Amino acid sequence: MRKRLNRLLKKIKEYNPKGDLELIEKAYEFAEIAHAGQKRLSGDPEMEHLMSVAEILAGLKLDSTSIAVAFLHDIIEDAGVSEEELMKEFGEEVTFLVNGVSKVGNLKLRGEKEEEFVENLRKMILVMAKDLRVVFVKLADRLNNLRTLQFLPKEKQFRIAKETLEIYAPLADRLQIGKLKGELEDLAFPYVYPDEYDELIIQTSTYLKKRDRDKDLKEAMKILQFGLKKEKIKAEIHGRPKHLYSLWRKLLRLEIDGDINKVHDLIAARILVNSVRDCYAALGVVHKIWKPLPQGGISDFIAQPKPNGYRSIHTKVFGPNGRILEVQIRTYEMHENAENGIAARWYYVEQKQKGISDERVEKGFFAPTEKMAWVKELIGWQKEVIDSQEFLESLKFDALAKRIYIFSPKGDVYDLPAGATPVDFAYAVHTDLGEAIDGAKVNGKMASLDTKLKNGDVVEIIDKKKNQPSQKWLEFVVTRTARREIEKFLRKRV
Ligand code: MN
Repeated sequence: MRKRLNRLLKKIKEYNPKGDLELIEKAYEFAEIAHAGQKRLSGDPEMEHLMSVAEILAGLKLDSTSIAVAFLHDIIEDAGVSEEELMKEFGEEVTFLVNGVSKVGNLKLRGEKEEEFVENLRKMILVMAKDLRVVFVKLADRLNNLRTLQFLPKEKQFRIAKETLEIYAPLADRLQIGKLKGELEDLAFPYVYPDEYDELIIQTSTYLKKRDRDKDLKEAMKILQFGLKKEKIKAEIHGRPKHLYSLWRKLLRLEIDGDINKVHDLIAARILVNSVRDCYAALGVVHKIWKPLPQGGISDFIAQPKPNGYRSIHTKVFGPNGRILEVQIRTYEMHENAENGIAARWYYVEQKQKGISDERVEKGFFAPTEKMAWVKELIGWQKEVIDSQEFLESLKFDALAKRIYIFSPKGDVYDLPAGATPVDFAYAVHTDLGEAIDGAKVNGKMASLDTKLKNGDVVEIIDKKKNQPSQKWLEFVVTRTARREIEKFLRKRV
């Protein structure tokens, strides 16, 4: 274990030369004593788990405090160390984070597993509002628990895996940590949908064999390499297999209808370049070699990033042997961001501006930014919604479900859950606008107020000073904000 610790410290020093290695070592030693003799259900010593969590966080290039918290995250719950003791040894910041990942203590719950789960979530969300690092530790902990899930009793396996698919993986997605999201989903998938998982494995392996996709991809990569070199674009090319869970979700889509032949990004080539300019130059090279699909071929997430901040250009082309191939083009920085999310942003800030004060990195950078309005929204509900079932539903639906982005006529972007209507949009802009709705135009055409908006729609609200929210709107609005404000208004009127 010591050797593993030294390897870990060396790795941290490489990406974060200013890191506080002493703090990490101290946390490691403290945990080693406190958890002495403790074993997990897998038979491994507890330290094995703590070390793995620390390694996952180092893989995301997180700061020293987070790594120290990794070693201490089970210490209140499983080793009976008190908060006061932790405070004395490690100070406020570490204690605050450890407390955030620990389960709610002496709270009398009526034995409901779900209620307990929700109370723990609420606690994490409160801490998350001040410090996002709590979520990283929680996600890394969950990832390592999933890797050893086979040692747990059956019903516990199912519950943990289901929570992962419903809450933790979407959370990783919203925080744009693609690396964790894909792995969390793929690990949880077989426990929640065992039959579907088996079927998919059979379906993909015969498909891949039959179509010889691997050979196609290698050939495509070679052609790309040559084409880019000719245009003097410095690039790295990788193949990217699609994650199983996201493939399965895609197969369930209406337009795909379970037909794996219609999934065009089963295997994709990824081009990494140095600059945005090189991204577009590389796109030109790709299209000179292979023609893009006439319909829905190119998605430019650089000009128009996804709501979670994801940036990249995707293009589907008629590749070698006429087979459809997806090519993704992005800069190294975009790639790091897509894989590691906020953690990566911290890393780049520090890389770019040497001499940045540790205080800014430690205090400022990990607080949710304005771009993460949904985190603040979460805090609002967590105070407002008492019922745990209702809280869980809003969390799953409003905050973590699939998002669409809707534009105002001026080009401002609003991030809304799928299924949102012009009324939801108006309330997302401002309550006053919601209360003045008279009609709506979607993409320049008059549309009814219950229209389900699509990603990229431009919505203009026609307002009239004296209009009033209607009871009927409650039948179709989907966001919590709209529902709450309409109900408030109707109550006031009575
Ligand atoms: Mn743990």
